[in-house]
Amino acid sequence: MPQKCILILLDGLGDRSYESLGGRTPLQAAHTPTLDKLAANGSSGLYHPSVQGEALPSENAHFSLFGYDMADFPGRGALEALGAGVDVLPSDVALLAHFASISRKNNVFWLDNGKPDVDAKSLAALNACISSFESDGVAVTFHATEGIRGIIRLRGDVSPFVTDSDSITDGRPLSAVLPWQDCGEEVAAAQRTASVLRGYLLWAYEKLSAHKVNQARKQKGQAPVNALVSQRAGRLKKVNPFRQKYGLRGLSMASGLVYQGLGTYLGMDVQKVADTGDAGADIAGRLQAAYACIKDYDFFHIHTKAPDEAAHEKDPMLKKKVTESLDAGIGRAIGPLMDDPDILFVVTADHSTPSGGPLIHSGETVPLIVAGRGVRKDTVCRFDEIHAANGALGGVRGKEIMYLILNHLDRAKLAGLMDTPEDQLYWPGDYEPFRTDFS
Ligand SMILES: [Zn+2]
Repeated sequence: MPQKCILILLDGLGDRSYESLGGRTPLQAAHTPTLDKLAANGSSGLYHPSVQGEALPSENAHFSLFGYDMADFPGRGALEALGAGVDVLPSDVALLAHFASISRKNNVFWLDNGKPDVDAKSLAALNACISSFESDGVAVTFHATEGIRGIIRLRGDVSPFVTDSDSITDGRPLSAVLPWQDCGEEVAAAQRTASVLRGYLLWAYEKLSAHKVNQARKQKGQAPVNALVSQRAGRLKKVNPFRQKYGLRGLSMASGLVYQGLGTYLGMDVQKVADTGDAGADIAGRLQAAYACIKDYDFFHIHTKAPDEAAHEKDPMLKKKVTESLDAGIGRAIGPLMDDPDILFVVTADHSTPSGGPLIHSGETVPLIVAGRGVRKDTVCRFDEIHAANGALGGVRGKEIMYLILNHLDRAKLAGLMDTPEDQLYWPGDYEPFRTDFS
């Protein structure tokens, strides 16, 4: 049986049917000979990381796919902070933030432009003027990450249970920063956090509005970049590392901060990769890099954001083309891996991202392939959302995918065996040898 698992994660690949594609999904319409071959070599099914119909963001979907309970999810702000290398203590709260153009009307802030265009030099000057703030014993720092985006870190007696100020859609009022209705034991800390964050965002608005960068923009008739908006507060929690949970040494290769943060959070090694604009070449490079270190790991998370990003353009034809490019890239790199009988392939997506309509992500299942030595070969020879429904795996949900992987690596523990004090999922466990000098 295979010894290593390569998980090819095509982010947001699942989609809906479009008249412009003859009533097919972009994946159905795409020419994907390599993925079809993988489907023909193994079992197919339809996967959802949670409950069918539920629309999940990538970070929640990945967390569930890796077999973790959402009760342990630390929040996206904390994950991106980790991914960006921001120094975060277990007691810190981290939020996603980005610059925006806002206006004040009758004491209400309105989001005029959530993606303002601003050059790197001006951005660096704006970052510097709001980088540090203190109130009520809480130290607030802003850490720029990519472009207009960054992380707000709160250090002190704080809680992640506060609402977002980012209303996301231009032309809508910003939302008030409030403590959650249910803060458990943290009512006072959540109230303090909301109050400090409100104070920081107001202070940042005043500082940014008065900044010479914005005075110059005003003179040129450009809207000011005069605010930070925040969302998805998070705080790190203790989590059972991936290696300990599954007995597998994991390597994650992904381009986004949130995936890099998640890999770090779960104790995987993280190889930071960048997107070049050629999705096929990018995934080919990641597969080649995986093969180069195949001896060092047992589980590879090979991720591409390209299908999700194409779908967000709301153009089914673009997503079809990107999917074809990915298939060609996988085809160029996968040869030596497919020749290796020690490798188990799992191909799937984290969620569906519709190329039409108003939804950001949608709740349909995504196609799944498990292929490798010993895996049942079903009759499915195409990789898409419709053919996968005829596959031998049927419907696969949540953490089942990690159980399937352990099973096909011959590492599934027969329930009831206890070779370690902790009831691990894998077998043989990291057990202590029986010593004759035990005392
Ligand atoms: Zn995703």
